[in-house]
Amino acid sequence: MRICGVQGVSLIDFPGKVSSVLFLGGCNFRCPFCQNRSLVEGYKYLPSIGEDSVLASLRRRKGFIDGVVITGGEPLLDGVELLPFLGRVREMGLPVKLDTNGYNADLLVTILKNMAVDYVAMDVKSSLGKYERASGRPLNTGRIVTSIQAIMGSSIEYEFRTTCVPGLVESDDIEEIGRLIKGAKRYYLQQFRTGEPTLVPSYMEIAPYPKEKLEEFLDIARTYVKVAGIRGI
Ligand code: SF4
Repeated sequence: MRICGVQGVSLIDFPGKVSSVLFLGGCNFRCPFCQNRSLVEGYKYLPSIGEDSVLASLRRRKGFIDGVVITGGEPLLDGVELLPFLGRVREMGLPVKLDTNGYNADLLVTILKNMAVDYVAMDVKSSLGKYERASGRPLNTGRIVTSIQAIMGSSIEYEFRTTCVPGLVESDDIEEIGRLIKGAKRYYLQQFRTGEPTLVPSYMEIAPYPKEKLEEFLDIARTYVKVAGIRGI
């Protein structure tokens, strides 16, 4: 486990819950717009916090929090080691939300089959045709489709979400994502934030979409999913 950071209390990361957030280092994607460089490329230089110490800090906060978010980087890089850790957190009576890019489909399927988390939030970076550009690496998009289908077929609560980066996500992409996740319970469009360094520096210069454009995307998304929303505006 590469737990590189802990945020003691968050009101926004786990729907309906006050949570602690655990940041795991490393990622198998290199999304050009990513603003988490230290966790993606520099995590080896960050101190790693021991599992026992993290669990002890969660135990101390139990009166204030009612959930734990495991985020990254990409938490599923930790492989099957992650499963016992998830179990230890849930044994404390704390529900777990997992944030993932969905590329480690095999492990995600195992986690879903074992009902090892209580909520999954998966990023859908763009339409499949643009996935390599949006994730910054060559990849097998079949693994993304497998993860989407596994999440939708499970009984665990979930959401899909897309950061709307101009050039990587346009109306046609929202249509295609809509078809991929047709019937999904929840789908959120996230505003692309500027002002922080991005993995590819030129992405810092990209102006975010105006609110009206995101609302246009929302109208498209709503035709495919049960609940759709916009975050970050
Ligand atoms: S935005 Fe992309 S590169 Fe950054 S942590 Fe998420 S999946 Fe990894």
